[in-house]
Amino acid sequence: MAKKNIAIGGISTECSSYSPLFQKKEDFISVQGQDLLDLIDFPFSDYNIKVNPIFFNKSVPGGPIDRKYFDEIKNEFITEINSFEKLDGVLLLMHGAIYVEGIDDPEGEWIRSVREAVGIDCIISVSYDLHGQITDTIIKNIDAFAAFKTAPHIDVQDTYRRSALMLASAINENYRPQVLWSSIPVLVSGEMSSTFVEPCKTIYKNLYHLNEKNEILDCNLLVGYVWADTHRATASSVVTCTNKKKGAEACKRIAKAYWNARKDLKSDMVTGTIDEAFVWLKSKFSIIADSGDNPTAGGVGDRADVLEAFFEQKIDHVLFAGIASKSAYDELKKGNEFSIGGSFGGGGPVLKLKADSVYFKNQCAVVSVSKTVIVISKIRRPFHNLEDFAELNLDLINFKILVVKSGYLSPELQSIPSRSFLALTEGAVNQNLVSIENKKRKKKIYPFQDFNKFEPLVSDGESIVN
Ligand SMILES: [Zn+2]
Repeated sequence: MAKKNIAIGGISTECSSYSPLFQKKEDFISVQGQDLLDLIDFPFSDYNIKVNPIFFNKSVPGGPIDRKYFDEIKNEFITEINSFEKLDGVLLLMHGAIYVEGIDDPEGEWIRSVREAVGIDCIISVSYDLHGQITDTIIKNIDAFAAFKTAPHIDVQDTYRRSALMLASAINENYRPQVLWSSIPVLVSGEMSSTFVEPCKTIYKNLYHLNEKNEILDCNLLVGYVWADTHRATASSVVTCTNKKKGAEACKRIAKAYWNARKDLKSDMVTGTIDEAFVWLKSKFSIIADSGDNPTAGGVGDRADVLEAFFEQKIDHVLFAGIASKSAYDELKKGNEFSIGGSFGGGGPVLKLKADSVYFKNQCAVVSVSKTVIVISKIRRPFHNLEDFAELNLDLINFKILVVKSGYLSPELQSIPSRSFLALTEGAVNQNLVSIENKKRKKKIYPFQDFNKFEPLVSDGESIVN
């Protein structure tokens, strides 16, 4: 039997519409060829399927994607799709929270263009982040959908494989699944919807139970992305099925479960202002998350407000990892005086400091000022893994406090015996949700508005499904 033919690729990032820093071509890395196949690691050859890897471009979350780059990269993707012989399937790896000025639904545009290129008979299966957004345009152009079921995300590859399996099975066994969705008028931060604590822990566990039902292939709950002021921004339930009625029932059930739990959605960390953090500090090793400037959620990562507050309090043995500033890094290469804060456009105070000592490693300057150590990174990046500190020869045992630019702590940082505090700080991903500006968002969304009635409407992308 002739081999079936599929293509794989996509684009993934999260874009805060509150960030001044546009993402351009140089902000993305491109996973291609064998690396892209390894990323998914699915045995397509067992299904008699030939795979054509295109590219999977991804970046550290940030501001809006530059319109010119988005158009270029989307066109490049479609040109590649057109270069293949007839495709039986496409596996798209998307995030779902791209923001491009002038385009209401960037992922929808991308997916619609793919559908136009491959034709109606091709099966399109999509892998998504649970912080992504859904629209009718997306749903009506795809045949299968799987999103992460954990946040922090520890099932990324598992999700790629779930969407790959649905694609391979549909092609091999010659059937066509269907994707249904319902918008849910709730929009909170990832920190308020961790799947490792209640109420989301139980809601997400139940998704697996729903998957076990006949004719249901994959049940998903997307919490959405709160820091993009867009019309499409809401939570959603998304179900891949082979029976519309059963799929619609599952979709409604998930939507209602999340809606009913909305008032219990809270951060699993002690939360407060930075002044409250100073009162909370005790002698035990503590981690403070500077959450408003967290680069993994779309913050710029260059602000120095928390550093300034610590200097004012005269607290020592603190490690700041890190603050992004190419200009401070360059100044430190020349001498020991430097300015830090807002150098990528993220705002906040600018501090003029003098280093007692400095060394350079991995595109970082590790600076001692009094008894504080600051990691100044040439590029925007997180310091969320233990390896990030080891690579810089930093031993956390030498510090009383670690300040990281983060929302909920990464699994590795959580594994350190410590107390932790989520500081509600300024920045492009401000966790004080009711204070963020809303111009384009729908008018009735919890917690921006409080209301009691919600009845899920399930759609197949073209019409309501009862
Ligand atoms: Zn995510």
